[in-house]
Amino acid sequence: MRYKTVLLFGAPGVGKGTQGKILGNIPNFFHCACGDVFRSMKHDSPIGQEFLEYSSRGELVPDEPTIQLWREFITASTRTGRFRPEADTLVLDGIPRNEHQAEMLKETLEVLAVFYLKCTHVAELTERLQRRALKENRLDDANIDVIRQRLKTYEKESKPVLDYYGKKLLHPINADQNPAKVLFDLLRHLVKV
Ligand code: ADP
Repeated sequence: MRYKTVLLFGAPGVGKGTQGKILGNIPNFFHCACGDVFRSMKHDSPIGQEFLEYSSRGELVPDEPTIQLWREFITASTRTGRFRPEADTLVLDGIPRNEHQAEMLKETLEVLAVFYLKCTHVAELTERLQRRALKENRLDDANIDVIRQRLKTYEKESKPVLDYYGKKLLHPINADQNPAKVLFDLLRHLVKV
C-alpha cells in the first residue's frame, strides 16, 4: 500500500518543523521530519557520522542511506503503533529533498498535496536559523557560511521537487504570517484532502 501523504515544503527556517509538530498532534496525522530522524541517530554510528559530515557543510546526505533510514523509521513507527498507515496521513517535512528521492519514493507515497511555505525575506530566514542554532545546539545553523550553503542547496536541489509533483498538487502558503495564521491556511486545505 502507498502511504497517504502531504508534504511540507520550503526553505530551511521557514517554519516547517513548527507546523509539522502541531499537525502531528492532531489525531490521524503522523509527522515525520527527516532532519529529526537523522539527529536521533547515535553520533558514532555510521549513519550518524555521515549525517554530521554532510550537514555540517550544509549539504544533503546521499540519497541511498537517507531513504533507507527513513524506511526503517517508518517501519519501526508502524510496528510500535505510532503510525497507522490505514488511518493516518503522513506529514512529511524535509523529505523528499531532491528529484531523485521523490523518484525513489514514488511507489511508497501517495502524495495528496504539497504545501509550499513561502517566505519573502531571506534575511529573516538567516536570522531565525542563527537563533535556532543557539537554542537547539545545531551545528549546521551556527555558521553563516553553512547557512548560505544550506540555502543554496535548497534552491538548486530541493526546489525542483515542486515541479516534480506539478501544479495540481501545489498549495502555496504565505509563511511571512504569524504561525497561527500559517496553521489556519494549512488546515483549510488539509480538511479537504
Ligand atoms: P532544515 O529543516 O532546517 O532545512 P533539517 O533538520 O531538515 O533542516 O535537515 C538538517 C540536515 O539534515 C540537512 O542539511 C541535510 O544535511 C540532512 N537531511 C535532512 N533531510 C534530508 C534528506 N531528505 N536528504 C538528504 N539530507 C537530509
